[in-house]
Amino acid sequence: MNKIIKGKYLIDGNGAKPKENSAVIIENGKIKDITDSNNLPKEGYEILDYPDATIMPGLVEVHTHMHVSPEPGNYEAALNDSDTVLAIRATDAVRKTLMSGVTTMRDIGSKNHIAFPIRDAVNAGIIPGPRILLAGQVVTTTAGHCNYFGTEADTLDEAVTAARANMKLGAEWIKIMSTGGGFTPRSNMRAAQYPSETLKAVVDDAVRLGGRVCSHAHGTVGVVNCVKAGMHNIIHCTWLAEDPDKMFDYKEDVADQIAEKGIYVDATVATGYMRTFRDPDFDAEQARMLRDPGERADILQDMRKRGVKFVSGIDSGMLYVRFGDIAYTPERMVDVIGMGNMEAIVACTKTSAECLGVDEETGTIDKGKSADIIVVDGNPNDDIKALHNISTVMLRGNIVKEDGKELI
Ligand SMILES: [Zn+2]
Repeated sequence: MNKIIKGKYLIDGNGAKPKENSAVIIENGKIKDITDSNNLPKEGYEILDYPDATIMPGLVEVHTHMHVSPEPGNYEAALNDSDTVLAIRATDAVRKTLMSGVTTMRDIGSKNHIAFPIRDAVNAGIIPGPRILLAGQVVTTTAGHCNYFGTEADTLDEAVTAARANMKLGAEWIKIMSTGGGFTPRSNMRAAQYPSETLKAVVDDAVRLGGRVCSHAHGTVGVVNCVKAGMHNIIHCTWLAEDPDKMFDYKEDVADQIAEKGIYVDATVATGYMRTFRDPDFDAEQARMLRDPGERADILQDMRKRGVKFVSGIDSGMLYVRFGDIAYTPERMVDVIGMGNMEAIVACTKTSAECLGVDEETGTIDKGKSADIIVVDGNPNDDIKALHNISTVMLRGNIVKEDGKELI
């Protein structure tokens, strides 16, 4: 049945102030119109009224690993679990992601291509899940970051071939590891895994096939290589110095190029944060640094001032980063990057949809877009933490969670 949804406030995701007295008319799973809630059609619609809540676009999460458990022992599990267990875990992960208010997610690295049948099952209505975009297996070097769930490819030709294999299976995205990372013992976070020529060859070939490329980059050398290669989306962008005696090596001119080229940055600002209150064994000094990241925050704030476009991306599946955790990202964008509340909301809806290339379809409440809508108790424009209280979730016009109760 066609529906009308209204709340105390409407946030459309374009950055405008919350509007009162607005209702969204939904027909055939799409947004037909936004209208005055005091002047609604008398019949033909189911009216969904949330008088104390805010209506806004479903969240867009650009960084998940659906096959990885976020609980202790996750590295061993990712290494040893059968594909069947990985697929069952991923089934649970996509459901939790949807129920948390994420109506579009991108998976950027799953083992043995298990994400493809999961997406097929969601699209066929066999299991619940959001709109899913995939990168398939990550492209990495031999023994490189996430080699145990990626395709090892050392030369330029091997990297292009590995990317093509993902495109052949239906990936919209390629994920390539430009530096080492923390989840892979003995990979080097500060050093480059690939020269910029290899990254560029992968980008050019993915574009030829209608895809886009994102790249993990902790070390500054990897960030620089990504910018030279014309990467679409840089993940982490930590600016670690190559010299391990120094922490950061931030390059303002490269940040300007990131802004000028329109490269989207997922700074994973919330990723370690949950460990500070969930992990009983977490090092106290590290926890203090994560809560108050000092120089890292200064760098991110400077990037924001230079016009870099930040997107969501929490890295679900990393230790204590659970699949319903997306609300920590806008919260930390405000606390760490210095964004305003509405700016963080736009970053996690509209801008993230643009990054993923699905902004014609979703990311804002505008006429003609998919009715991907969430109901937030309270007003996240006043208090960004209200996004932890998403009570109702609508995907393509269907309510999948209502007043906290999961319906499918
Ligand atoms: Zn990741």
